[in-house]
Amino acid sequence: MFDVIIAGCGPTGAMLAAELRLHDVRVLVLEKETEPASFVRIVGLHIRSLELMAMRGLLDRIVQQGRRRPAGAYFAAIPKPAPKGLDSAYAYLLGIPQPVIVRLLEEHANELGAQVRRGCAVAGFEQDDEGVTVELADGEQLRSRYLVGCDGARSTVRKLLGVGFPGEPSRTDTLMGEMKVGVPQEEIAAKVTEISEPPQRFWLRPFGEGVYSVVVPAAGVGDRAEPPTLEDFKQQLRTIAGTDFGVHSPRWLSRFGDATRLADRYRVGRVLLAGDAAHIHPPIGGQGLNLGVQDAFNLGWKLAAQIRGWAPETLLDTYQAERHPVAEDVLDNTRAQMELTSAEPGPQAVRRLLTELMDFDEVNRHLIEKITAIGIRYDFGEGPDLLGRRLCDIDVKQGHLYGLLHRGRGLLLDRTERLTVGAWSDRVDHLADPTAELDVPCVLLRPDGHVAWIGDDQQDLDDHLSRWFGKPAG
Ligand SMILES: Cc1cc2nc3c(=O)[nH]c(=O)nc-3n(C[C@H](O)[C@H](O)[C@H](O)COP(=O)(O)OP(=O)(O)OC[C@H]3O[C@@H](n4cnc5c(N)ncnc54)[C@H](O)[C@@H]3O)c2cc1C
Repeated sequence: MFDVIIAGCGPTGAMLAAELRLHDVRVLVLEKETEPASFVRIVGLHIRSLELMAMRGLLDRIVQQGRRRPAGAYFAAIPKPAPKGLDSAYAYLLGIPQPVIVRLLEEHANELGAQVRRGCAVAGFEQDDEGVTVELADGEQLRSRYLVGCDGARSTVRKLLGVGFPGEPSRTDTLMGEMKVGVPQEEIAAKVTEISEPPQRFWLRPFGEGVYSVVVPAAGVGDRAEPPTLEDFKQQLRTIAGTDFGVHSPRWLSRFGDATRLADRYRVGRVLLAGDAAHIHPPIGGQGLNLGVQDAFNLGWKLAAQIRGWAPETLLDTYQAERHPVAEDVLDNTRAQMELTSAEPGPQAVRRLLTELMDFDEVNRHLIEKITAIGIRYDFGEGPDLLGRRLCDIDVKQGHLYGLLHRGRGLLLDRTERLTVGAWSDRVDHLADPTAELDVPCVLLRPDGHVAWIGDDQQDLDDHLSRWFGKPAG
């Protein structure tokens, strides 16, 4: 009997397993593939995800494996630099191969004691009042208290759950891949600049070591069901640019559509959904993996609290209440970005207008805070603007705030030095620090780093400790 079975060991499943293990939850991750994915796709970790990694002490390991890039120019690839003074200690994008990030998260989960079984596909399940019986493709049955489907866009768990997945089917196909080129960088840059006016779904971006990320429309390329070939890329490049840039040695080649869908529900009883299993959208802006990892970060401590028995009654339901609107917003911004890459005159005019508007700092800042997920504010009710937002990695007397969050517990950051977490000390830490870089007296942080309370009154604090961390121990 496990506490939680996770279907799928992609970035979302691995992150969730690690978060649950921080609270000693017995976790089994079932992954249908026998080996980790072999194709190398470089994804971008945006600011909020880098912050999460810092909160769990993983960032140094991850940064070593990636390449730092400027944080700006990701919204519809409009080439505007990030506004100055972005409110984060980690204001960059980290380009990192997806298999590397999955491996590092899986290692982290393993180190914390999660079990991962490869070559095991979830094929069915039944839930009852006590738990879930999970059936594998080979007929083996396993039992757990909860099941989480982190099994990607074609999620078996979501389908079996009968949860609706409304949205739009794919209309526009794009080829995307990584490969080497046979001509000098300056030549490519000049051609790309020339062809990108008017802007369209076409770019070649250097990723180092002579490797380029290549994006080109797929219009006219054969069977959608078949993976694209290097020859397809060459042909499309010749059509759009008059040259194939001598592309060769592909690392991976793929074709993606702009299907955009969002699960109606993230939870049905003891079964939950996270990551691509709950939402899909085109990869423009590079948000999908980030969104999934952030789902896992939101869900992990809540599900652990439920299993440990201290969760307030509605805590687990706040997962959907908080994350569904975030996904809705990401889906919308990718819809908008896809429109902005259309070669039609109308969208091109809107793109020119938006490009002008992005010269206003507020507009540029708003878009980048959206795409990097640092602008998220959960609805925790009336209160100051900071309530419901994430707290940055501010300086505290012991160093950096995020260094105090590695264990995934709540934290009272107390500048008054007269409050206490009392009987909640088994799940909430207390740092009395009058020098903390805060312009409010005290904040209560949830394990995901979001501000759950602001104030200086003990009774009010106790009420909020109860709201988020349940009945006090003993
Ligand atoms: C071309 C392209 C470029 C992208 N670029 C970016 C980017 O720059 N930044 C970004 O944030 N995102 C990007 N994405 C999106 C990102 O890759 C996904 O959002 C991310 O992989 C989702 O992670 P996940 O763990 O939810 O699902 P997945 O990565 O799909 O993992 C699901 C796992 O579940 C397993 N599985 C499936 N079914 C079962 C089953 N029945 N039982 C057990 N295991 C099962 C699968 O084998 C897989 O390992 C891109 C996507 C594409 C297509």
